[in-house]
Amino acid sequence: MLLPALASPTAKVAIRFPHHELTYAELAAQARQVAYGLVGKRRIAVWARADVRTCVVVVGALLAGVPVVPLNPKVGERELAHILGDSEPDLVVDDELPSGVEVPLPEPDAEAPALIVYTSGTTGPPKGVVLPRRALASNLDALAQAWEWTAEDVVVHGLPLFHVHGLGIGVLGPLRRGGTVRHLGSFTVEKAAEAMASVGTMMFGVPTMYHRIAQAPKHAAAFARARLLVSGSAALPATVHEQLERLTGQRVVERYGMTETLMNTSVRASGDRRPGTVGPPLDGVEVRVVGDEPGEIEVRGPNLFLEYLNRPDATREAFTDGWFRTGDLAVVEPDGYLRIVGRRATDLIKSGGYKIGAGEIENALLEHPGVAEVAVTGEPDDDLGERVVAWVVSTGAPATGDELADHVARLLTPHKRPRVVRFVESLPRNDMGKVLKRELR
Ligand code: ATP
Ligand code: MG
Repeated sequence: MLLPALASPTAKVAIRFPHHELTYAELAAQARQVAYGLVGKRRIAVWARADVRTCVVVVGALLAGVPVVPLNPKVGERELAHILGDSEPDLVVDDELPSGVEVPLPEPDAEAPALIVYTSGTTGPPKGVVLPRRALASNLDALAQAWEWTAEDVVVHGLPLFHVHGLGIGVLGPLRRGGTVRHLGSFTVEKAAEAMASVGTMMFGVPTMYHRIAQAPKHAAAFARARLLVSGSAALPATVHEQLERLTGQRVVERYGMTETLMNTSVRASGDRRPGTVGPPLDGVEVRVVGDEPGEIEVRGPNLFLEYLNRPDATREAFTDGWFRTGDLAVVEPDGYLRIVGRRATDLIKSGGYKIGAGEIENALLEHPGVAEVAVTGEPDDDLGERVVAWVVSTGAPATGDELADHVARLLTPHKRPRVVRFVESLPRNDMGKVLKRELR
């Protein structure tokens, strides 16, 4: 059973949004109504606004055994056409909640699809990832073990509900534990601080959120009392990790995952929280790093997806002998912790015979007082094959491109020195705060 707490519902708060909350009893009753209206459908989509209604529809669909596609409410028309054309839902749930006459609800097989979540589209058009109930259940239990996560925990977050981070882990996680999710509606440091100062024990966020918290000393006390601050979806810069520790005494726990695999590795609640590392594999998940380091991360285990929807070729190509090729690059530290270097497609720069990881150069540049944000890419170079290019958003403190390039050469090695430094107003980012490097190039 994916959500056992719904079988014997209580008056405990399951889900709370700024203007609306549901106890387990209310959630179970409302989700069951929705489920009655959905039984027998092949697949549905839901406009996944950050509200209680989205949670009720998703839980209802899980009770009915009907796979659900969460849609980004701000999606553009081309991407929407792609997703609806690809997933062909029987129904797109908006404001009107389905209901039906009471029918027996099935107890779906563990391998039955539960969610079809589209990837963030960072490296290409979003792919529909078919996630079985087994992947969600096993991953949420492995995370519970890693984070010592119990029914007593109140998870605070302001993440969108159309990716696995906010929905799969951030909503279904607390519900599987029988705990509480306190969603901020949308993220602001003020709202997060208020929730953490009152009820929150854990917070889930992406690096841009932690970056903002690290800039807000007046709210430090609220975050200082947290049991666990967890970051993922993109690399947490070491500078942000360190600033937050200085400000709040908290060392953020970083985990690494993706739509296709849910979470693969995490620093443990009781483990050593080193900046720039995402911890060892979760229990039950096998991780290997293939080839010369930094090598590609491959994953095997009960956390894996079933297939890319309508893309048998892409599915086949993504696997070698049952191992899923993540496309991410890492080095493994002596104690088994992974250090993610970046993505094979965009973050491995082959320059002058060297393999250079963009992430390392980005971290070095962020240590310079003149650098607020940065992305490093490779671009074709007649002499070197590729040259290292740094795209920099300035803090306003004076720094020339040459000074920044020298700073990298001094901290790292001379061949990692950016050949070109371009100052930009802002970096193109998606809704999870991930830099869209293909747009830069
Ligand atoms: P697409 O597959 O459409 O290009 P995407 O890979 O960004 O988009 P997601 O599945 O949402 O879509 O994101 C997973 C990716 O996010 C991982 O493959 C990895 O590159 C990155 N990621 C997640 N957590 C971390 C982390 N802690 N550190 C560095 N990168 C991370
Ligand atoms: Mg991906």
